[in-house]
Parts: sequence; structure tokens; C-alpha cells
Amino acid sequence: MAPVGSSRSDLRRPGRGGGTDQESSKPKPRLDGDDLCAICDNGGNVTCCDGGCGRSFHLTDENSEGSRCRLVLGLTKERAEMILADDDKDFICKNCKYKQHQCFACGKLGSSDLSSEAEVFQCEVDDCGRFYHPKCVAKLLYPDNRLEASLFGDQVAARQKFTCPIHECIECKGEENKNDRNMQFAVCRRCPTTYHQKCLPSDIPFKTKEGPNGYMQRAWDELEAPDGRVIARDRILIYCTKHEIIKKFGTPERNHIIFPDEEDIPEEEEQLDNASPESPQSPPPVARDQNQCSCSSPINSFAPVSLFTHPHPGTCGWLGD
Ligand SMILES: [Zn+2]
Ligand SMILES: [Zn+2]
Ligand SMILES: [Zn+2]
Ligand SMILES: [Zn+2]
Ligand SMILES: [Zn+2]
Ligand SMILES: [Zn+2]
Ligand SMILES: [Zn+2]
Repeated sequence: MAPVGSSRSDLRRPGRGGGTDQESSKPKPRLDGDDLCAICDNGGNVTCCDGGCGRSFHLTDENSEGSRCRLVLGLTKERAEMILADDDKDFICKNCKYKQHQCFACGKLGSSDLSSEAEVFQCEVDDCGRFYHPKCVAKLLYPDNRLEASLFGDQVAARQKFTCPIHECIECKGEENKNDRNMQFAVCRRCPTTYHQKCLPSDIPFKTKEGPNGYMQRAWDELEAPDGRVIARDRILIYCTKHEIIKKFGTPERNHIIFPDEEDIPEEEEQLDNASPESPQSPPPVARDQNQCSCSSPINSFAPVSLFTHPHPGTCGWLGD
């Protein structure tokens, strides 16, 4: 199934269930996230992680895809329903809970615990959320200059703020201009590869062609609303050519998200966790403005924000009508 444009995709961001009584209750401020599930890349009823990674996930069992995402997350049905039913209940993914995040360049898990030996560090751009090993991000930013790369890597390891490579076009190195269709960004869901719309190579096509010389769709610039309207996205979603498209998914293999193995978590921490399963041990790895909802920020939002006004600054979800 294609990640967007499917009938199951939903332009709304219902967040925590979207009940009408949310109108009266005051949800606490949350860090906002992606409107597509980080595991399956589909939209619909996704829940933002409140732990600082900026990603969203399917917790519901509304379709088989969703239930698979819930299993990948390691959530029981009961626990997922509890989180969805209670608007004040935080959802913290295991990467954020155990402060172990994947490097967006090499995919390996590393500690993001800034209070001890951190191995991966988060890009400073609001709502980017991506983590990198210092060496991995340095190599991407300075591919032809080992000295510069080495210096830059040392700075990142010394916790200096940095901007990751997805915020410039890999082809022309230019910035995004959201007001110019040609200059909008097309961002790979799986690796640090970004193109301007005008710089997109022809082997990242916007449609699938059947037949012996056929190819699979790798770029999406529109989204189908539940009522069938097709609406242009303000940001193009791509899978770059480094990732093989699996026909039955319409996406690359969905084994890209790795959560820390709970057996590897120190005993002590497990006990602490059992004592208070709802609260993370300490604040998210990077302090962010938790009051600032950033639904419309450029990196992770694919929904055309102009079409829907924002319900409550500081909530993850689009509320029901
Ligand atoms: Zn999903
Ligand atoms: Zn998270
Ligand atoms: Zn890495
Ligand atoms: Zn970034
Ligand atoms: Zn470009
Ligand atoms: Zn890619
Ligand atoms: Zn929001």
C-alpha cells in the first residue's frame, strides 16, 4: 500500500483519539511531531511521542497495519488503549524512554543520554528530531575534506549545536523556499537525502509504471483526504534510490526502526521504571520549547497546513469538528 494517497490516510491529526470532549479539556503542552507513522509511513490516527524524538506512531488497531506498528512499539493493546483514552497520559517511545536513538545516517543505536556518555546528538533545527553520531554527520557535511570533517565531528561530540544535512538540497546545496513550488523540499523518509522539487532526479518518479520496464513510485506530493479530495502537500515525501521499494508495501522494508532491547537495560533502571511506568526518568535529551506546537514546521509535517487552522497551540492533534 502506498504511504499516502491511500484511502486510509487521514489529513487530520487526531492525536489522542479526537473525541469531541477534548474541546473542553485542556491538554497539556506537548512537543508536536510528524503526521505520518514512523514505522509504516501511513497517516491516520497517529500519536506523537512526547519524549522529544518528534516522531509519531500508530497505537490503534484500526487496521492490520496499525496493529503491526503497535507490536513493533512493544505496546500491549491494553496499554495502547489506556494512552489513547487519557489525554493527559504521555506516550514515550522506547528510544526516548531509554535515551537510545538511532543515528539517521548509519541506523545504529547509540546513547543519547547527555548526562553521561552520549554517542548520538540531535540536530538543532526545530522539529527535525534526527540524531547522528558526530562522525556520521561530519562525513555527510564534509565529504571531501577530512580535516574539516574531523574538526566538525569533534565539535558535535563536544555538544555544540549543529544543523543536519537534510536542511539543504543534496544537488545544489540551496535552501528551501516553501512559497516556490520548484524550490520546495523533497525529503527522504529513510536517510539524510533532500532535493528541491526542481532538483529531483528522474529515477525518483511520482508514479508507478507497470510492465517489464516498469518502476515503482518513489515521490508523493499529494494526499487524499477521507472525502476523496486530493490535496497538494507543502512538502514532498520521497524514498531515495538507496532504498529498494517492496511492492506489497509501496515503501522500503519496514525494519528501519530499532528500539533498545529491554533485556539490555540495566536491572536498576527496569525496577525504577516498574515503580512509575508513566514518567520518564528525566527530561528529554535536548531541551525544547514544549509549549511551542510546531505542526506546520517544515521537516516533519506533510499535511497542507493552509487548509486547517490549528486547534490549540501546544496540542499534537487536530480535534474533531
Ligand atoms: Zn504505522
Ligand atoms: Zn520518542
Ligand atoms: Zn552513525
Ligand atoms: Zn536536522
Ligand atoms: Zn536543489
Ligand atoms: Zn534515502
Ligand atoms: Zn499541533
